[in-house]
Amino acid sequence: MLKKVLIANRGEIACRIIRTCRRLGVATVAVYSDADRDALHVELADEAVHIGPSPAAESYLRSEKIIEAALKTGADAIHPGYGFLSENPGFAEAVAAAGLRFIGPPAEAIRAMGLKDAAKALMEEAGVPVVPGYHGIEQDADFLASEAERIGFPVLIKARAGGGGKGMRRVESAAAFKEALASAQREALAAFGDASCLVEKYITHPRHIEIQVFGDDHGNVVHLFERDCSAQRRHQKVIEEAPAPGMPEEMRHAMGEAAVRAAEAIDYSGAGTIEFIADASEGLKADRFWFMEMNTRLQVEHPVTEAVTGIDLVEWQLRVASGEPLPKGQEELSIDGWAFEARLYAEDAERGFLPATGTLSHLALPGGVARVDSGVRAGDHISPFYDPMIAKVITHGSDRATALSRLSTALEEVRATGLTTNAAFLCRLTKQADFVAGNPDTGLIDRHLTELTMAREASPEIIALAALELSGVLESKIPKDPWTALSGFRLWSEASDFVELEHRGRHVPVSFHSKGQGSYRFTVEGRDIELRLSGSKWAYDLEFDGRRHPAEVIRDGNGVTVFQNGESWHFGLIDPLAAEDEAAAGGDRILAPMPGLVKLLRAVPGAAVSRGETLAVMEAMKMELSLSAPRDGTIAEVLIAEGEQVLEGAVLLTLEAASPPPLA
Ligand code: ADP
Ligand code: ADP
Ligand code: MG
Repeated sequence: MLKKVLIANRGEIACRIIRTCRRLGVATVAVYSDADRDALHVELADEAVHIGPSPAAESYLRSEKIIEAALKTGADAIHPGYGFLSENPGFAEAVAAAGLRFIGPPAEAIRAMGLKDAAKALMEEAGVPVVPGYHGIEQDADFLASEAERIGFPVLIKARAGGGGKGMRRVESAAAFKEALASAQREALAAFGDASCLVEKYITHPRHIEIQVFGDDHGNVVHLFERDCSAQRRHQKVIEEAPAPGMPEEMRHAMGEAAVRAAEAIDYSGAGTIEFIADASEGLKADRFWFMEMNTRLQVEHPVTEAVTGIDLVEWQLRVASGEPLPKGQEELSIDGWAFEARLYAEDAERGFLPATGTLSHLALPGGVARVDSGVRAGDHISPFYDPMIAKVITHGSDRATALSRLSTALEEVRATGLTTNAAFLCRLTKQADFVAGNPDTGLIDRHLTELTMAREASPEIIALAALELSGVLESKIPKDPWTALSGFRLWSEASDFVELEHRGRHVPVSFHSKGQGSYRFTVEGRDIELRLSGSKWAYDLEFDGRRHPAEVIRDGNGVTVFQNGESWHFGLIDPLAAEDEAAAGGDRILAPMPGLVKLLRAVPGAAVSRGETLAVMEAMKMELSLSAPRDGTIAEVLIAEGEQVLEGAVLLTLEAASPPPLA
């Protein structure tokens, strides 16, 4: 067995790898950037080496720095995790050249699967069904248009060097083809430095089903069954499960065999995933799945496979890298029950899934039967530099319904404050009728986007609870001296008060008075309600309409977040003076709604702009956002330049003060 492993990654996956190393008695070395100085993976590892500034290009992507750190600490192998350098054949070679073991497949296998067109050609040769389409080298627009015609619309244009869902365009008709091609090529060139594209038949009613494969250095290859990753948004996985619902045994067998054939064709060793697309328009059929691509690394969603097979895939990776044969043969592997994984992110589903950054002032992740893989803890900062993942929540059960209801419950238990998360979106998805029925397809989330992301109004009772917390009334419940603690005398003290809350940019006036025994009468935005409150510290029961409604409140700084049934609402307390300043300035400044890169800037001082006109385009992680003029006016200052990285809330542009309305 390896003695010491350096993990060339960060966040949850670094922590997850460290956990298995520790269990196997393998020492660990973490690497970290400036932003990650106090990160959890650094704390968990036996040793840690600083490798550079926060941007990934200057730290986690610096192969020479990472190899140097491994040599300096006496590590014998490097685990690349996922993302970053994990699918970089040059890195795999450099690691080997330095006399270290790369925990992953041989560089040639990574290279063979690195470009989607070459990979498809190779798979065709190996007898693996590939998506019908054109994946040759010819890139002439007229030629590709005629190929699209031949394949038949709709088609999907893909960047051959693509990944993370980038550089893809679905095209419905010949008329729209060339423009879509040009835009896919532009995006591909910018993201991957390679404009080449392939054209595929767009599979209707598509399901993304992938097979986990594993190989060793002794010529053995097995598969560990499938994962269904059809719940996607913008070609990105949201919730994954294993096995795939409605999968006929015959199809599972055919897919497993095809995946093993694919891996054998490139002398694969280590963990890998063969991604297939299936046409589910008439249910899953053994002759209706096609190879899409291979990911030559450990996948984000590997825990669902671990849950149903009982195998620690990282342990297998370490064993294979140590030269051991695969611990199990194909006939010793089987599926036990059902598993789900949900990706919990710091992002704002209501606002188009903008990545959110900030400090996780409070974080409590589900306990109980859920497995939670996380790389952050309360007090940590989610920076704009990396993937804003907070945790993966994984549940297992004897059947799909049990595993799914455990996932819903676990997601309802997520308590994160300080920034916006996608917990409510995920929780709603676990209850969405088609998803519950086991009919996921890659368009499901988009079709139901409104119900999955729409802001839910806070009830007057939730607002009332926030008002009580922010007015300080509830604090008197925590007795300050032993006498009151003993007698409980001051509990639910008589009080009446008026507070003005800030909620979603709105002022919400609330007045209340206590009637004793935890009963209160409120006026919330002019509406009268009564409720009785019981409970402790942060977990309350709101009693009204003859029923108890549990809710939790978490205080952070000047605000409070109320959690109920998987939803949450944040409230601030209005400071009247600050509020006026803000209102006056509001319409005159254009702020960055998220941290990211200013990709395009169309503003010059003195220029007249009209309301709604696009002034800048920002890019962060995997999305683009246009910023438009909030009103007609004249640009006063431009405070940023194209290509600049900015923090959330940074002032990008200002407009000249609006002239007062003419006197009548
Ligand atoms: P998976 O199928 O395992 O989700 P992806 O390639 O989509 O594989 O993503 C794996 C990880 O790689 C992501 O969670 C992220 O950390 C990183 N990643 C992939 N694509 C991008 C991208 N375009 N920008 C930033 N990070 C990315
Ligand atoms: P990436 O490298 O970005 O992960 P993939 O080729 O794996 O690219 O495709 C990403 C997603 O796009 C798939 O999971 C699937 O939802 C969708 N997709 C890809 N190819 C097709 C196709 N031919 N027809 C329909 N959907 C597709
Ligand atoms: Mg993919």
